Amino acid sequence: MVAISATLKDTTVVVVVEVSAGVSSGVIIGAFIRMTFSDFESGNKGESKDMIEVLKVSKSSNMQSMDAVVQKKYPIYLKDIARGEENIQIPLVNEYESLELPNFLYIKSNMVHKDAHVDFSLARISDGNFCAECYGDCLSSDLPCACAAETLGEFAYTKEGLLKENFLDECIAMNLEPKTKHFYYCEVCPLQNDLHQKLKKTKRCKGHLTRKFIKECWSKCGCSRKCKNRVVQQGIQVPLQVYGTPEGKGWGIRSVNALKKGTFVCEYVGEIVTNQELYERNKERVAKQEKHTYPVLLDADWGSERILKDEEALCLDATEFGNAGRFINHRCYDANLIEIPVEVETPDHHYYHVAFFTTKDIEPMEELTWVILLSTT
Ligand SMILES: [Zn+2]
Ligand SMILES: [Zn+2]
Ligand SMILES: [Zn+2]
Ligand SMILES: [Zn+2]
Repeated sequence: MVAISATLKDTTVVVVVEVSAGVSSGVIIGAFIRMTFSDFESGNKGESKDMIEVLKVSKSSNMQSMDAVVQKKYPIYLKDIARGEENIQIPLVNEYESLELPNFLYIKSNMVHKDAHVDFSLARISDGNFCAECYGDCLSSDLPCACAAETLGEFAYTKEGLLKENFLDECIAMNLEPKTKHFYYCEVCPLQNDLHQKLKKTKRCKGHLTRKFIKECWSKCGCSRKCKNRVVQQGIQVPLQVYGTPEGKGWGIRSVNALKKGTFVCEYVGEIVTNQELYERNKERVAKQEKHTYPVLLDADWGSERILKDEEALCLDATEFGNAGRFINHRCYDANLIEIPVEVETPDHHYYHVAFFTTKDIEPMEELTWVILLSTT
């Protein structure tokens, strides 16, 4: 891995690049090993050349491409912000304005923080939660197997790999309906934090939307890895692009191709942290005037849990470690994505995958957006 930090007046760009066997992939992710800009220009020419290749802007020379990043000349183009982690590359393009390059480390799957309790053991998956008798593709058998029980005996996916329209429409309706209908209110809300308790202010639970879950086949199932009841766990399949939005909303994400309604786009991936840990982190970030991404609370099934322990009231923090999902902008209404909880490794619903599916047909190069519900604030 080669890391280059280039400083020009008030602009600092840190480029971390993996170089192996003459093939390079590049991504701006953070500072590991720092070199000065003069190192970049004069020393280590071989490595620099590899690195510059990933920053190609149309047919301009390699050095001009690096200048484009350092001097904020547009467009800026990075080949793959996922640095090879995903099935496909996710480029970053900025054509419009001066934007700070995102400073984070790309991870493909959620990572558990030490204080968070998540049990991925096979023993935790009990009878009725897997389909040992299945073979090949569960969707091709005449009768739905045990893995369809969560979705009331019918698989959530079609054989074409889309979310079934009736399932999707029900999820959309639950998001739109009046709060009281599907909201669960805790007696003692895990979102109360130390500060409020100390001040003896009892913070009323704002409510948590109870959501429908998708359950995918997993390790104890007899079916193949290509079973059609395994969609989210296959990772990103549709070409995406991170880009500087023209309306000044910062970075956004768009689909390169047209997508059908019900297509899985990506997960929201981050660190699995306790609500308490997130509270402490964000307090510190605010004090240091650092930006943080919008946290996603994993509260879709809090209503069915006994009183949650602190280590089970979890959320996803994608500020320092995250995936493409951290670039999805929010809308108050008229978004084209919905997040749906997906059970994969564990039947414990205080942890699950947050998967984004399209709620309508998407045009090529259309921005992908997501509605934030009040329960997550
Ligand atoms: Zn099965
Ligand atoms: Zn299966
Ligand atoms: Zn609550
Ligand atoms: Zn199964």
